[in-house]
Amino acid sequence: MIDVKLGRMSPAEIERLRAFDRDHVWHPYAPMPAAVPPEVVVSASGVRLTLADGTELIDGMSSWWAAIHGYNHPELNAAVTRQLGRMAHVMFGGLTHPTAVRLAERLVDLTPEPLTTVFFADSGSVAVEVAIKMTLQYWRSQGRPERHRLLTVRGGYHGDTFGDMAVCDPVNGMHQLFTDVLAKHVFAPPPPLGYLAEPDPAYLEELRRLAAAHSGELAGIIVEPIVQGAGGMRFYAPEYLQALRELADEHDLLLVLDEIATGFGRTGEMWGCDHAEIAPDIMCVGKALTGGYMTMAATLCTDRVARGITSGEAGVLMHGPTYMANPLAASVASASIDLLLSRDWRDEVDTIEAVLTAGLDGAADLPGVRDVRVLGAIGVIEAREPVDVPAVQKIAMDHGVWLRPFGRLVYTMPPYVCTQEEIEQIADAMYAIAETL
Ligand SMILES: *Cc1c(COP(=O)(O)O)cnc(C)c1O
Repeated sequence: MIDVKLGRMSPAEIERLRAFDRDHVWHPYAPMPAAVPPEVVVSASGVRLTLADGTELIDGMSSWWAAIHGYNHPELNAAVTRQLGRMAHVMFGGLTHPTAVRLAERLVDLTPEPLTTVFFADSGSVAVEVAIKMTLQYWRSQGRPERHRLLTVRGGYHGDTFGDMAVCDPVNGMHQLFTDVLAKHVFAPPPPLGYLAEPDPAYLEELRRLAAAHSGELAGIIVEPIVQGAGGMRFYAPEYLQALRELADEHDLLLVLDEIATGFGRTGEMWGCDHAEIAPDIMCVGKALTGGYMTMAATLCTDRVARGITSGEAGVLMHGPTYMANPLAASVASASIDLLLSRDWRDEVDTIEAVLTAGLDGAADLPGVRDVRVLGAIGVIEAREPVDVPAVQKIAMDHGVWLRPFGRLVYTMPPYVCTQEEIEQIADAMYAIAETL
């Protein structure tokens, strides 16, 4: 029963929903039934989530790095509502619509110059599947099917489908279960930690050695630029990205950059690859693309890749989701991009970086903490041991903040529109957690 006046539910109804959820609804990377029933969110506005009991929490996660403008944003709402009045969806085979074309124009404009074509995918995982398929199909089209492997680095995360899993870190826990059924790619060690670290010549040499040793069978290179997200929240120096671009050129490999986590300003530049002043041959965007409103991602590629694929035996790119270029998602994605560009997002992200850096200062010296790192609107505390997730979440919630740690990592990727005080509150929660590690 909903208490209409307060917009709140009775405790009995909350409990009923949680119990059914626990027993019947899968959650991400969760057991069934759930070990700990999830919190119930009834609404969200600005940077705050409202739980069923009326508790408000600052969302330090931006709904998995997507809700960069916060929730219930009037301009984003208006974009969806406008589109809803015209058409919620239409198939993309043989048809197009202004909303998709206008989003494609924005993406081609906003991404590095060589990227000229856009494939709309329905999630980040699918965008990476498409990127891998483009890479392999490109070489098949050139009569070089033996170029069928990818070079990547350990510590990566590229999504949950089988093609993606094969380029995720093979041992860090998420996908090792399926090793025997996954494609065999070539893994370099994880890039040395530290955005500002001097590049390690031995590491660069290892990259060169692997690329040379496998060049005949490699189709491309795939990495997350500058920040490895769900694989470990690790930051690395732009020089390694430059080295990968050079190796791709030297051995004629396609460079695929997965910008799904890093895109749209999260690292302090519009794209992760901007830190290295390089451009990929294929790029995936997602997560913040729709400002956290709907699932949509995209894979962009160069003319060379697009024409190369089309000149092959198949003559077409072999992919086409049912909900491709969904107009509702495309409308809000365009509105989200316009909103981002209309604000001083660089200043917002720089401010978050400065406030997180100050707020987490000293945490690195705490006994349970292995490392503290901040880059752009990303703040990470790495513990020495895996963290007790429910215990950590309780501390965060006691501080009025929503955080979702994993493994040894307690981190925040807050909405860019957080005030300085709200970022301080998130940092205070993280510091309090660090004291208990
Ligand atoms: C989240 C993520 C994905 C997968 O996106 P989904 O929309 O969850 O399928 C892929 N690559 C990176 C770098 C990500 O952060």
